[in-house]
Amino acid sequence: MAGELVLIVEDNPLNMKLARDVLVFNGYQVAEAMTAEEGIVIACKREPALILMDIQLPGMDGVTAFKQLRQYPETQHIPVIALTASAMVTDRKVILAAGFDGYETKPISVKHLLDTVRTVIDKRAKATPGGAPSAAPAKEPK
Ligand code: MN
Repeated sequence: MAGELVLIVEDNPLNMKLARDVLVFNGYQVAEAMTAEEGIVIACKREPALILMDIQLPGMDGVTAFKQLRQYPETQHIPVIALTASAMVTDRKVILAAGFDGYETKPISVKHLLDTVRTVIDKRAKATPGGAPSAAPAKEPK
């Protein structure tokens, strides 16, 4: 079920527009940031279900931003998918080693992006207590 809030951090207006249009058309809510610094502020305030994080950004890069997001209690649980124009094997290794939840290579493939977004959000919902409303957890004895 779509409707979740996805934060897109991307400095390229065309990539931003494509990602936004695809997600909105498929029922997601979207928040946008053109820098990592702005993205972190929005992530803390709005706690999106997922963040799409460009790696090459002016100022702070996406890998550094990801590491900061993992430091804050408000954002440490939010899955982050890296967006990068680079298909270089070394870059891919750095990104995966940093612990990103997924990886999308630009130019963006619409179907692949939607599949990845859905899979990562569903996986996180299952792993999070309260993610399944029908299965109320038993109360712990005090
Ligand atoms: Mn960029």
